Amino acid sequence: MSSGTFSSEQDPVGALTKISSLFHGLLAGLSEKEQEVMDRLAKLEAEEKQLIDKYQAIKRFSDRLWEVATICEILFNLSDEKKLGELVVNFLARLHPGSRVKFLYANNSRTKMRLIAASGLAAGEQERCAIYPLDCLALKRCKPLIRISPENDAFCSELGEITPRQGYLCVPLMANGMAYGCINMILEAQDSPAPLLDENDLKIIDIFTTYVSLILNNNLLIKTVRKEALTDRLTGLPNRRYALEVLQNEVFRSERYGNVFSLAVLDIDTFKAVNDTYGHDEGDKVLMLIAETANKCLRRVDTVARFGGEEFLAILPQTGIQAAVSVIERFRKTFTRQTFSDYLEAKNVTLSAGLAEFPTDSKDVPTLIKIADERMYKAKREGRNRVVWR
Ligand code: GH3
Ligand code: MG
Ligand code: MG
Repeated sequence: MSSGTFSSEQDPVGALTKISSLFHGLLAGLSEKEQEVMDRLAKLEAEEKQLIDKYQAIKRFSDRLWEVATICEILFNLSDEKKLGELVVNFLARLHPGSRVKFLYANNSRTKMRLIAASGLAAGEQERCAIYPLDCLALKRCKPLIRISPENDAFCSELGEITPRQGYLCVPLMANGMAYGCINMILEAQDSPAPLLDENDLKIIDIFTTYVSLILNNNLLIKTVRKEALTDRLTGLPNRRYALEVLQNEVFRSERYGNVFSLAVLDIDTFKAVNDTYGHDEGDKVLMLIAETANKCLRRVDTVARFGGEEFLAILPQTGIQAAVSVIERFRKTFTRQTFSDYLEAKNVTLSAGLAEFPTDSKDVPTLIKIADERMYKAKREGRNRVVWR
């Protein structure tokens, strides 16, 4: 054997030492690798947990979005404000358990907001909820007022008592530049330092309240269009279409409860002469006087509608023909008396009326109108300026 090599036979102890040190070296290398693998495993586990958390957050977000879509579909088909408010409030209350939610709805003139639905309010708290839109900071700023962690503070005195650990969210409901109301949430403090609502919750609230505002806007447009379709522009009175709807409903109701009701056809006398003598504008003023007389002489449950031209229909629920005659007589006299007012040139304008009673004269709408109309013409033939009921 050449020099520089060793032989275990020559130095068995040295050989064993060498093998042992080689073995230790190998072992150290292995445990380093093991540590590396363990570290990578821990990192992968942390990444997996993050992914699971993210997946769960996305799943929760998409479930909520689906819920928003489903609720909005129902809301779009609801005309009852109270039911709409309750659905909105229930959905928002579920986003943050233990929260107090109020839905304040502005009146038509936007001068006051009243509570239409609430969740989690203490007894007596509801009465204190009517506020003025001008006192609502969220409506004034046209953007939400929000505190979801203690350091951020933009306080609105209209929110009432709030502890430093509670959060709040006021979302103005606006669409097309119109204020419809405000949603107000008080968020209960939690043990964890996390914000009271996370980023996704805020997005959901934003999307949901935007839809709610559009739905309220849509409801108002439908109401306005419907009202216009049923209103006479000149006098502001209901038109023929509306009168026929009311009459048919009155027939159903009276049949059901065994009531009587009366119907009157009113026609302005020699109205063509008013137009011919004083002009069309003066004639219009006389027509508007019928609406004013109706406001003065009739009950809120009664209806006076412009049936066409200078002809009007009065519907008097739960009124027998004798009582109806005195009401329409009073109407006739008041109308003529008012034509002597200074603002009218045409003086002493009179009207003729014919009356019919349900169910005595007829049980169906067209025949009732026909009978009242024939009696109105009888009044004309008998000299005008009178009420005929048989
Ligand atoms: P009578 O006593 O028999 O009812 O006679 P009258 O002149 O009232 O009846 P007639 O049917 O001859 O005339 C009705 C007039 O009403 C004719 C029409 O020009 C007028 N008129 C209908 N609608 C309006 C309106 O919106 N404004 C005005 N100023 N006049 C109207
Ligand atoms: Mg006439
Ligand atoms: Mg006529």
